[in-house]
Amino acid sequence: MKEKSASIFREFMTRYKCNYSIGDLTPTVCELFNIPEPADCGAVAVAPVIDQAARTIGEGKMQKAVLFCCDAMGEHQREHFPEIFERIEKVAPFRIPSVSVMPSVTPVCYGTIFSGAAPAVHGIQKYEKPTLKIETLFDVFAAAGKNVAIVAMNNCSIDLIFRSRNVDYYSFRTDEQSFECTLELIRKNNYDLIVSYMTGYDAQQHKNGCFSAECTHEALLGAERFEQLAADMDKYYADYNRLLVFVPDHGGHVIADGTGTHGFDIPEDMLVSHYYRLKAKSEC
Ligand SMILES: [Zn+2]
Repeated sequence: MKEKSASIFREFMTRYKCNYSIGDLTPTVCELFNIPEPADCGAVAVAPVIDQAARTIGEGKMQKAVLFCCDAMGEHQREHFPEIFERIEKVAPFRIPSVSVMPSVTPVCYGTIFSGAAPAVHGIQKYEKPTLKIETLFDVFAAAGKNVAIVAMNNCSIDLIFRSRNVDYYSFRTDEQSFECTLELIRKNNYDLIVSYMTGYDAQQHKNGCFSAECTHEALLGAERFEQLAADMDKYYADYNRLLVFVPDHGGHVIADGTGTHGFDIPEDMLVSHYYRLKAKSEC
């Protein structure tokens, strides 16, 4: 199954002239923590990030990670909101342009991002939210004795498809509560890996179009929250090697009626960047 995933990723990477897949997030995080990747992972650790870790934290392992999943903040969005994405890149300078998978919808994409497996392997191949059956980043972290928290809006994809695992689930009605909870978990320092999901930009692009005032507000909020996460990690995780990543799933484009959508095999929907920030302990 590893080879099947790898060949699907390669096909998209070749066609979109992109060196990385969104699935590369999982083997990268695993290698940084020195934890075996999930069984069906066909993605590859991102070499420039691994090299940077060797320079930043030397022989040591990563000890804390926060993965900020800002839904639909892809490359098409970066073209329209350059100042906002410059703020994200300032926080996390390792920008890794990556290609998504098809169909480019949330549960399919995050299923791939957190398993390193292609949709045909992880099983979610349309907009549906079953519990993922194959091994994920969260399973291998739990098996390695790590404490994992997934913080998200209730009944969203990330809240549902990774259930039934040895991790803690925090589920809320609003993004704001999810974010406040994430900050509290960092402050309390009980977890090794926190996934924090934000739906705001994607929700607004479906309603009002990708570049509406509402979307501008949510994109800005995403950048501000990312900055806050970095500041709080530096404050409360100062004694740990730490990793913060901005992890969108897909982009989105405007359609004839003025609203936004995604799910298509086009650059506007398929191209994203993941942004990595690596810090050594006692470094501010
Ligand atoms: Zn999405």
